[in-house]
Amino acid sequence: MVYKKNERRMPTCLECGSKIRYGRSDKKFCSEDCRCRHFNTMARNGRAIRRRVLRQLSMNHDILEELMRSDVGSIDLIDLMGRGYVPAYVTSYRKNGKHDEYSCFDIKFIMTRTRVYSISKIQNV
Ligand SMILES: [Zn+2]
Repeated sequence: MVYKKNERRMPTCLECGSKIRYGRSDKKFCSEDCRCRHFNTMARNGRAIRRRVLRQLSMNHDILEELMRSDVGSIDLIDLMGRGYVPAYVTSYRKNGKHDEYSCFDIKFIMTRTRVYSISKIQNV
């Protein structure tokens, strides 16, 4: 980009991208409308992310619950993922001796890099 001698670098609106021609140099929006639109979009995106995370946690929980119902005590992670389970979505983690114990709401389990086992309900949640 080429700037002429006395041309001030004008900031651009974070919402619509148009140049902000007046006001303080650290102004981020060209208008009140753009400012509102920007924060509404951010809030909407935040809610969408929370919904997506909760949906996956809920799906993981259903899968683990189904395994407990079917008396499956141990399962390969790859098989679990084949059922739609996503290992990154857990609600807590703690080191239990040398095991990595995770939970998904009221269900706890031990997860290694290849297997999930000791799946059980947490008492007194
Ligand atoms: Zn704008």
